[in-house]
Parts: sequence; structure tokens; C-alpha cells
Amino acid sequence: MRLLVIGGVAAGLSAAARARRLDRSLDIVVLESGKTISYGACGLPYYIEGRVRDPRQLIVYTPEYFARERDILVRTGVRAASIAHPRREVILDGGERVPYDRLVIATGARPDQTQIPGTNLPHVFTLHTFDDALRLKQRLLESRPRSAVVIGARYLGLEAADALRRNGLKVTVFEQSKSVLHRDDPELAKTIVRHMEHFHVDLRLGTPVGRIESSSVEGVSCDLVILSTGVRPNTALAVEAGIETGRTGAIRVDDRMQTNLAGVYAAGDCAETTHLVTGRPAYIPLGTTANKMGRVAGANAAGARERFSGIVGTAIVSIFGLGFATTGLSSEQARREGFSPVSARIEAPAKARYFRGRLTTVELVADRATHHLLGGTVIGEQDVGGRINTIAAALHNRMRIDDFEQMDLAYAPPFATVWDPLLIAAQQLMKLLN
Ligand SMILES: Cc1cc2nc3c(=O)[nH]c(=O)nc-3n(C[C@H](O)[C@H](O)[C@H](O)COP(=O)(O)OP(=O)(O)OC[C@H]3O[C@@H](n4cnc5c(N)ncnc54)[C@H](O)[C@@H]3O)c2cc1C
Repeated sequence: MRLLVIGGVAAGLSAAARARRLDRSLDIVVLESGKTISYGACGLPYYIEGRVRDPRQLIVYTPEYFARERDILVRTGVRAASIAHPRREVILDGGERVPYDRLVIATGARPDQTQIPGTNLPHVFTLHTFDDALRLKQRLLESRPRSAVVIGARYLGLEAADALRRNGLKVTVFEQSKSVLHRDDPELAKTIVRHMEHFHVDLRLGTPVGRIESSSVEGVSCDLVILSTGVRPNTALAVEAGIETGRTGAIRVDDRMQTNLAGVYAAGDCAETTHLVTGRPAYIPLGTTANKMGRVAGANAAGARERFSGIVGTAIVSIFGLGFATTGLSSEQARREGFSPVSARIEAPAKARYFRGRLTTVELVADRATHHLLGGTVIGEQDVGGRINTIAAALHNRMRIDDFEQMDLAYAPPFATVWDPLLIAAQQLMKLLN
């Protein structure tokens, strides 16, 4: 039996590797249109910044590794042009037909094709693939640009702004909405604008870009433009084959990653999943989710029965040394979803002051009627990841704030305070709810 996988990065290779672990006799073939497989796109901004010196450090496995160690054939530089599901064949550019019994579609996402005129000018870059990063780095080294405009203030735009600023460029960020990190949270937006200002990055919210000129954007002169206006799921191949997309525009799958076509699975940035707080389909394309979805798709394609229940939308980003992390819903988002959100925001030291504990901001959001936790934000320099993950675990388990307040969190002076900032925020929230 042959398992064919389209896409050779996070979701596709997780699927292939998991299938191989479960079934040693499967014939597994991965098709990847690019030259490079299995790389950590999440590390690309750090290559631009300079902390990662050699981009090869970002490559986890090679096709040779997969052939030798996993008995998986990874073909690079081949693009799947169409899927003929009734014949169980994928047709490649050039006409070759590759048969399959089970198919995993892991075609990822692509930068949003924004309608802004000027995106095809030579000084406009995206930072989405390994090759994008190589091109951008080459431009930085060869042309020594002195100023840049970043369009979009989601996590990628802010990471790019940080990386370029650290390369000595004057950086302006334009964002058409009033929010940053794709999170409707005015307080968070204000904090980030102030933080960027401190590092001499001009972040202009509520400022749509009408056109990119050859040496300026909205009157701000620049030698370089980074487009980071979000991504769209790569679904064309699937849609042409009769695979349904959901209301998010990504491929609709069940909790086994099965599409509407028997034996065809989809995973990663091309597929949607369920948001466990709202119970609705969601499209929040991230590497963590892609790997998990891929693993489940691979397991089911190999004949096992595994489930991926969904996400709570946890994300974290470091901007000039400060961690910004969010999970679940902000108050605004919760209101739109029909909850009655109540939130508390506190600032407290992340650990004992005599261990140089720095102030951490924690915001918790809960529903007035049920006291269920709906979301949280953590901002700080110390243990931001640990704290947001604690909130994410509580959201996964549909915890009420009453129980969250009682959580037995670790304490010793080098790590935390006796009243952890999470518990202080929970206490404040309880006061508002009672
Ligand atoms: C700069 C950057 C930073 C990021 N940082 C983070 C982070 O800090 N944390 C986090 O969780 N996530 C992060 N992400 C997101 C994360 O990298 C993605 O969610 C993840 O790579 C998605 O994996 P995927 O396998 O679904 O898709 P992709 O990684 O996009 O891989 C899909 C592959 O399919 C191939 N393909 C598409 N169509 C075809 C076809 N027709 N035939 C053959 N091959 C095809 C493509 O060439 C591509 O290589 C970041 C992304 C970027 C770009």
C-alpha cells in the first residue's frame, strides 16, 4: 500500500514519519516542490537578524536521512499539479502520474496576495520560505539598505522589524487595523507600540498602505519593503480535486484529519481545525499545530485511529527581548463570540526581587455567567512561555477561574514569587466576578 504526501515541511514530514513508525511495510513517498525540506521556518527571522549564522542550522532532516533511516522517499523539486482521486493518482508538472492508496495533503500556506500596487517591485520581499530568507539576507549584505518598511504587524511583521532594526536599519511598520499580533486587544496594542518606540521602530496602527513606490511607502522613504500581511491556505490543488474547504477558507477536516474524500487527509497550514474555547472552526496556522495535525493524519493514513481535538490559539513572540504571549480569546474577541467577558490585568514581579525579578503583565479573561476561563495574555522578560502554557493547559481543560485560582504552582525564589503573577491575576478576576 502506498502513502503519498504532498508537502515536505512540518505537517507532511510529521505525517510520513508517524506512518512509518506504525507500519514498516508501507511504501511512503513525499513530494516537495521546493529544494529544501524539513526546515524550521520559525528560525528564519533569527537568520535575518544574525543570531543564526548559517541557514543550514535550520534544516532538521535531509531527503538522504529520510531514505536511509526511515525508508521514506522524499522527492524535491517536484510539484503536484493535480489530483485525480477516482484513479488514485497525483499528476506532477510535466505529466508524470504518481499512484497512491492514501494521500496526505500538507501544502501549507502562502503569503496573502495583497492587492497593494507595487508588490512586484524588486525591493519588496516576503519572509515565508527558506529561499525567501536567503534572498532577503543577500539583499541586506549586498545592498546595505538603510531603511525598511514592514507592512503588517502580526507576529511575523514584528519579528522582521526587530531583525531589521538589529541590522541597523531605520524601520517603520504599517498596520491597517488597530490591532497587533492579530489580537483584538487595545491594551496589548498600546504596550507594543510603546515598546517598539523605545527601540526606535515607528509602528503606525490604523494606517493602510495604498501603494508601494520604488523608494517610499505612504511618504516614508525606504530601501526595502517586507510584506507580512498574513497568509492564506494553499488549497487550490485540493479544491480542484473536489475537496471541501470550511468557512475559514482552509481545507475542512474531521478530528482524524480526514477530508470529505475517502483516504485523503489534510494537515498543517492548509487545513482548519477546531477552536476549543469557541467550539468553532479556526484557522491559526502555526508550526506546533502543523506538526500535531501531521502526526495524526499520518497515523490514520497508516490505519490507526488517532484524534486531534483542536487548539486554543496559543502564540508567543519575542520583540526586542520582551516576550508577548497570548492564548484563547481577548475580551473583544470573546464578546464577539457571544460570551460576557470579565478581565483582570495585573503587573507583578516574575520572581523574587532579590533574584532580579522583573515586572510581568498578566491578563486573564473569564466568562461572567459560567466563570470559565476564556483567554490570557502574558508580557514580560522572564518565564513568559511557562505562564502562557499554564493558561493554555487550563483552557484545554475548560477550567473555571475558581479552580485556576487554587492551582498548585511551583515556587522558589529563583523561579517565581510565592504568589505567582497568574494567581494574583486570578484573585483579581474572582473579585470582579463575585
Ligand atoms: C518566518 C516564519 C516564522 C514562523 N515562526 C513560527 C513560530 O515561532 N512558531 C510557530 O508555531 N509557527 C511559526 N511559523 C509558522 C510555521 O512555520 C508554519 O505553521 C509551518 O511551517 C506549517 O507547516 P506546513 O507543513 O503546514 O506548511 P509549510 O511549512 O508551508 O510546508 C508546505 C510545503 O508544501 C510544499 N508544497 C505546496 N504545494 C505543493 C505542491 N503542489 N506540490 C509539492 N509541494 C508543494 C511547499 O513548497 C512547502 O514546502 C513561522 C512561519 C514563518 C514563515
